[in-house]
Order: sequence, then C-alpha cells, then structure tokens
Amino acid sequence: MSDCLFCKIAAGEIPSTKIYEDEYVYAFADIAPQAPFHAVVIPKQHIASADEITADNSFLVARVFEAVAKIAKQENLSDGYRVVNNCGEAAGQTVHHIHFHLLARRDLGWPPG
Ligand code: 5GP
Ligand code: ZN
Repeated sequence: MSDCLFCKIAAGEIPSTKIYEDEYVYAFADIAPQAPFHAVVIPKQHIASADEITADNSFLVARVFEAVAKIAKQENLSDGYRVVNNCGEAAGQTVHHIHFHLLARRDLGWPPG
C-alpha cells in the first residue's frame, strides 16, 4: 500500500534500523522502545491487522514466527521474550500494517496491563 508507513519501511523508502530480513519478513528497531530490546517484526506484504488473516495469507504469520526464533538466537534472547500483536483501537494498534512486537531484556511482568 503506497501510503502505509510499514510498507515504506519494508521497502527501504523510510529509514529504519534493520534487525532481520528475509524474502517475506522484515524486522527493525522500534522508534519508541518499550524494553531494552524492542523489535517490530512485519510481513513485507501489506496486511492491515490480525483481523485480515485468511487461509491465503496465514503462511506469512508462520514466517514471522520463524523469523522471531531466528532473531531470538541472533540477539541471544535466551532469558526469554514476549511477542505482542495489537489488533484494533482498544488494543492500541496505531499502524495498520500487521506487526508483532518482540520485547526482551527486562522483567516483562504478567499479566500485561
Ligand atoms: P502499535 O501501537 O500499532 O501496536 O505499534 C506501532 C509501533 O510502531 C509503535 O511501537 C511505534 O513506536 C512504532 N513506530 C511508529 N512509527 C515508527 C517509525 O517511523 N519507525 C520505527 N522504527 N518505529 C515506528
Ligand atoms: Zn503496509
């Protein structure tokens, strides 16, 4: 989508600090980190939110989680990490390109707020 911030980041049209990239997935440092390690992991293909996952595109979610496992090893997140997807306004989704927050390197607490 031409007016989507995360499509532009995935395409390199807006700069970001790359953490991981493959054919389907791009991960970059969050501009406002909520933990000492905070990556945003996205499929390169535009999907607006978790509400838009279908049988045709769900393989991209699998690719995202394959990437998460690789990033965890790459970044030595062996103490643990949390993957968060915000879907919709009440959950705090502000960018309407599906993304997964990967948070680590602090006590993340449970349950989340
Ligand atoms: P949401 O609130 O939609 O779940 O998450 C969007 C995330 O994207 C936020 O954590 C926010 O800090 C991050 N973000 C928004 N704009 C930019 C940007 O231009 N660059 C980077 N690296 N992160 C961004
Ligand atoms: Zn997009």
